[in-house]
Formats: sequence, C-alpha cells, structure tokens
Amino acid sequence: MLEVAKDYTLELEDIPNFKPEDLSEDQVKRLKQDIAALLKKRDAVLVAHYYVDGHVQDIAHETGGCVADSLEMARFGRDHSASVLVVSGVRFMGETAKVLSPEKTVLMPTLKAECSLDLGCPPDEFAAFCEQHPDRTVVVYANTSVAVKALSDWVVTSSVGLSIIENLNSQGEKILWAPDKHLGRYIQQRTGADMLLWSGACIVHEEFKHQALIDMKKVYPDAGVLVHPEAPASVIALADVVGSTSQILKAASELPHEVFIVATDRGLFHQMRRAEPQKRFIEAPTAGDGATCKSCAHCPWMAMNELKTLKHSLENFDNEIFVEPAMGARAMIPLQRMLDFPR
Ligand code: SF4
Repeated sequence: MLEVAKDYTLELEDIPNFKPEDLSEDQVKRLKQDIAALLKKRDAVLVAHYYVDGHVQDIAHETGGCVADSLEMARFGRDHSASVLVVSGVRFMGETAKVLSPEKTVLMPTLKAECSLDLGCPPDEFAAFCEQHPDRTVVVYANTSVAVKALSDWVVTSSVGLSIIENLNSQGEKILWAPDKHLGRYIQQRTGADMLLWSGACIVHEEFKHQALIDMKKVYPDAGVLVHPEAPASVIALADVVGSTSQILKAASELPHEVFIVATDRGLFHQMRRAEPQKRFIEAPTAGDGATCKSCAHCPWMAMNELKTLKHSLENFDNEIFVEPAMGARAMIPLQRMLDFPR
C-alpha cells in the first residue's frame, strides 16, 4: 500500500468553536410544535443524521421523517413523496440529497455545517491527484463535495465501503481512496487491496486515544468496545466491533454486554439509549496522553443543527441546496453504483 505525503488534516484554528444554545423544556416543546406544523404546510419531510441534536432527531421521528446514517438518509429522501427535503446534518448530505432528487427542494438548517473530510479534499487538488494515477479505480467516501464525487468511479459510506472494496479487489482493481486515511487503512488491512490513500481525517474520530481507552477498559472490564472506523488504527485494535453508525447501533442491541464504551460522535448515544434504555453507554476517551481534544467527541458542525435554525429555514425557505445539473448528473453515476450494490 502506498500513502500520500501531503497531510490534509485540519488545524485547530480551522475548526469552529460552536456552542449550541441551551433551551428550556417549554421552548423545546413550542419549537417542536412549530416545526411539525411547518413541515406539513411546506409538504416537507425531515431527514436527520444520528449525530445531530437529540431534539431534532425526535422531531424527525415524530413527524414521519427519518434518523439514519448518510446512506439511509439518501435513500429515504429519494424515495419519500414530499416535495421538500429538510436535511439535518452537514452540507455534503444536503448535496447528496439534491443529486438523488434534483426535482425536489432541499433545505438545510444551516449552510455553515461543513465536514473536515470534505474540507480536506479540495476538488482541484484531488483532480490532479487522480490524473497522476489513471490506472486506479477512484473510490471516494460519501463525506466529499459533489465535485469530488463527480471525479470518482464509486462513492461508498462506512456501512458498505468494506464490501465494495472487497468486490473491486476480487476483480483485480487497484484503488485510489479518498479522503479518510483511517477508514482507508482499516479497509486496506481487512481486504488486502492495493490502495493509494488520500490523507484526510475526521476531527472527531481522530481524537480518540489508545492508552486512555486501555485505562478505561480496566475500570469497566466487562464493557463492550464499539469503534467507528474513522478512528485511528490503535483505537480500532481495541474494539469488539468496528462499524458504521448503523452497525454500532445494531451491535449495541445484539451483543450481550450491559455496558459499552463507544468511540464515535456522542450524538449517536441518543438512539442507543432510546433502543436500549437498560444498558449503559460511555464515551470513549478523547483525553489522556497526547490529547488535544479538538472536539470532545461531538462534531461542531453537526451541533449547528438546532431547533431554532431548523424552524427558521422552514419558515423562510432559505438555506436551499443547489447543485449544478451537469455535475450532479456526473456525481449520480458513482452514487447510483453504491445504491445498486447488493447488501
Ligand atoms: S463527525 Fe467527522 S466525518 Fe462526521 S461530519 Fe463531523 S467532521 Fe465530518
């Protein structure tokens, strides 16, 4: 396996220090009532990611929307009959919804919600990189811009990435992978595929710490350890289950443990506690030896999806996502390959 020399990991100063506003119970109740009424009035459905605020997840469930990983969000939005999709997550998720449903209006609570993986893979530099390696099949993670997807042969999410690379490897394909180096390395080790890696990282998952997790396991020796594959290899090595958000949720229900240490964004804890109220879920440590704690296990961009901004976008029909049609059509090809891939 080859590696890319240049590092596209974001610096601390590039990451917003966003703190969501605290709301009273009464404010939450009223905002949720207003949002439910606006969704109806606008013929809209709310499609939310597992990492956003728990109240936003709840209102999505209560109004017939969905709370899911990025693959299921894309499918749900495409297949739903509503003419307006309100995507609560980060910008690439809104863009993907628009590519899959160009005839629908796609709104987001904010257009400032970025992703360090998307920001760390500028389309021009990525295009030049692909041109240097024309013999490789280009596989990009869903956490990328439409422009980067349009340069690829395949788009994958963390729930299907392993199976798709396994399949490509069995056909003798050499892979150019972007942008997450940890996920790429994990898949390379599991499949043995020939993968050239871009060098981006998720600022949330990269912060989980190996030694601090070993120390925590000593305190909770019977706990199961669930790790997202965007975490560093040394943390993945300590996992009982490595998987995407939906795979982690499934493991939390199916494994017999009563306590789990979980290395992913703490937004997912809302659904884990909802599904398994009798079990205990503990955040894997982001502190300890070598800690810089950029995010403390919560994505600052996901945190921007608040009830107030959600209501505002529905009320004013703003924060609409636009995708240039020709580029959207090009990005649709690798996205459709992923959606058609048998699971
Ligand atoms: S948690 Fe990481 S991968 Fe997910 S949106 Fe935030 S920065 Fe991107």
